Amino acid sequence: MRTRATKIEGGWSISGTKVWTSNAHRTNYLIALARTAPKEEDRHAGMTQFIVDLSRPGVSVRPIHNLYGGHDFNEVVFDGYFAADDMVMGEPGMGWKLVTSELAFERSGPDRFLSTYQLLCESIRTIGPDPDARAANEIGRFVAHLATLRRMSTSVAGMLERGAQPAVEAALVKDMGTAFEREIPETFRHLIPTEPTLGEGASYAELLGMTMLRAQGFTIRGGTREILRGMIARGLGLR
Ligand SMILES: Cc1cc2nc3c(=O)[nH]c(=O)nc-3n(C[C@H](O)[C@H](O)[C@H](O)COP(=O)(O)OP(=O)(O)OC[C@H]3O[C@@H](n4cnc5c(N)ncnc54)[C@H](O)[C@@H]3O)c2cc1C
Repeated sequence: MRTRATKIEGGWSISGTKVWTSNAHRTNYLIALARTAPKEEDRHAGMTQFIVDLSRPGVSVRPIHNLYGGHDFNEVVFDGYFAADDMVMGEPGMGWKLVTSELAFERSGPDRFLSTYQLLCESIRTIGPDPDARAANEIGRFVAHLATLRRMSTSVAGMLERGAQPAVEAALVKDMGTAFEREIPETFRHLIPTEPTLGEGASYAELLGMTMLRAQGFTIRGGTREILRGMIARGLGLR
C-alpha cells in the first residue's frame, strides 16, 4: 500500500492511486486507507483511514472498463487531496484494525455467495421439472451448498453483531462462497449446452455469457483465494 497521507496544518494531504474501486463513479464519498507513518517492523502499523469527499479538488475518478465492456470500477487518483482532521476515522494509526473489521463484513455477506444465484435459478427453470439423474444431482448439490453457506454467513453476521472479530470465519465464507459462485456457470454450461451471449437480459444464454466473464473476479475482489487460505491456515495454527 503506497498511498500516503502527510500531516499538514488542520489536516492531511493525500497522494497516491487506487485501482479497482467499485462504484466510485456512482458515490459521493469513499473511505481511503493511507500510510501515515513509515513502514516499521510491524508492517500493519502507521496506516490511517480517511473519509474522502469526491466532490472536492485533489481527487479524480477514472473509469476502467471490464471484460464485457461495462463500467463497474475505476482508478481513483489522489493528488494532494486535503482531508481535514475530523475526516480521520478513529485515531491516526489504527487504520489496519479498522480495515480488517470492515473486511469481515465484506467477506461474509450474501454478495459473497449469491453473485451467480440468478443463473442458478434460470438454469433450474431451463432444465424444467424432469431433470435427468446428472442434472438432479448437480441441482441438489448446489441447493444444499447454498443452504449451508447461508447458515455460515448469518452465523458470522451474528458474531459481528455481538462485537466479535470473526476475520478467519469470514475468510472461510468468502473462500467457500466464491468457489460456489464460480462453479455454477462451469457446471451448467456443460449441462445445458447453449452459445453464451452478451447482454443485460435475463435469458439463460445472456446470464451464462455475462456470468462467465464476471466470475473471474469473484475469487479476487475482497481478497484473493490464496491470501484467504493463508489467513485460515494461520487462524487454525497451521502456519
Ligand atoms: C471486480 C473487482 C472489484 C474490486 N473492487 C474493489 C473496491 O471496491 N475497493 C477496493 O479497495 N478494492 C477493490 N478491488 C481490489 C481487490 O481487493 C484486489 O484486487 C485484491 O485484493 C487482490 O489484490 P491485488 O490486486 O493487489 O493482487 P495481489 O495481492 O498482487 O495478488 C496477485 C496474485 O498473487 C497471489 N498472491 C499475492 N500474495 C500472495 C501470497 N503471500 N501467497 C500466495 N499467493 C499470493 C494472489 O492470490 C493473486 O493470485 C476489486 C477487485 C476486483 C477484481
